[in-house]
Parts: sequence; structure tokens; C-alpha cells
Amino acid sequence: MSQSIRTADIESFTRHCREHGMKITLQRVAIYRYLMESGAHPSTDDVFQALRDDFPGLSFDTINRTLMTFYQTGLIDIVESRTGVRRFDANMGSHSHMHCVSCGAMFDIDDPLPDHGCLPQADASGFELLGKNVVFRVICPTCRSSEGRSLREGSAWK
Ligand SMILES: [Zn+2]
Ligand SMILES: [Zn+2]
Repeated sequence: MSQSIRTADIESFTRHCREHGMKITLQRVAIYRYLMESGAHPSTDDVFQALRDDFPGLSFDTINRTLMTFYQTGLIDIVESRTGVRRFDANMGSHSHMHCVSCGAMFDIDDPLPDHGCLPQADASGFELLGKNVVFRVICPTCRSSEGRSLREGSAWK
């Protein structure tokens, strides 16, 4: 589920960097570009593996620090995964996710979801609701075909 990066995305990226006093380096552009293009919610290690051939001097720590800076300045988001490994998301639009429990792949659902309800009044009192991020647990088509497993009807879509 890749998306090709547009010039406008790079322009807003460079504007974001300038506004937050970040130097625009080739490495930073490459990291952001990879996040945008892969659309796979990669971990720091995924980014490291993907960029190590093109940027042999780029360390895991530098990538991790860069991703955390991107996150802290509101350029990207962090998605929790069941394994506890941080995954990064360049899609800042309101959306939900499908998370394959077999291979760990994470897919965006961009269409507005049918409303699954708001916070119950009792739980919501005193809290300010900032957003909602639904994660559906699924077995993706690739895993289904390779393992011959099938989704139990309805279990992932309750
Ligand atoms: Zn899978
Ligand atoms: Zn996402």
C-alpha cells in the first residue's frame, strides 16, 4: 500500500523544518520520504535497514533521534504495536489502522469509519477527548494465502 510522494509533501516538510529550527539535510529528507512512500508504519529498525545502502554513515541512533524529533514537533505520529516496538506514521490525517497479528504489517484505513460510539459519559467526565484511533486486528491477505488460514467471520470487524 505505497503512496508516491508529491512535491507539495517535500515543500511542507522543508517548511516544517524551518519553522522548528531543524536543519534540512539529505538524510532527514530521505527518512521522511521513506516514511511517506512506504506507508507501512515502519519502526526505527525498518528505516535503518531501508536506508543503510544509500546512507552507510547514517546510524540507528541518528535515525531514532530524527524520528523522535519529527514526532515531538508534530510532523509524524507514533502508532503503538502489540510487540511494544514504536512504529512511525507520516499520515497525519485522521485515520484508523488494520494490524496483521501474523506478520505485524499495519495498514491505513482512510475512509471515515462508522461511528463506534463515543466515550461513555461516566468515563469521559473530567477528560478532554482529543481523538480516537481504532486498531483492527486482522490477518492480512499475504499471510492468509501463505498460511492457508482464514479470517474467522466477523471476528476482526466487531
Ligand atoms: Zn500479515
Ligand atoms: Zn497510519
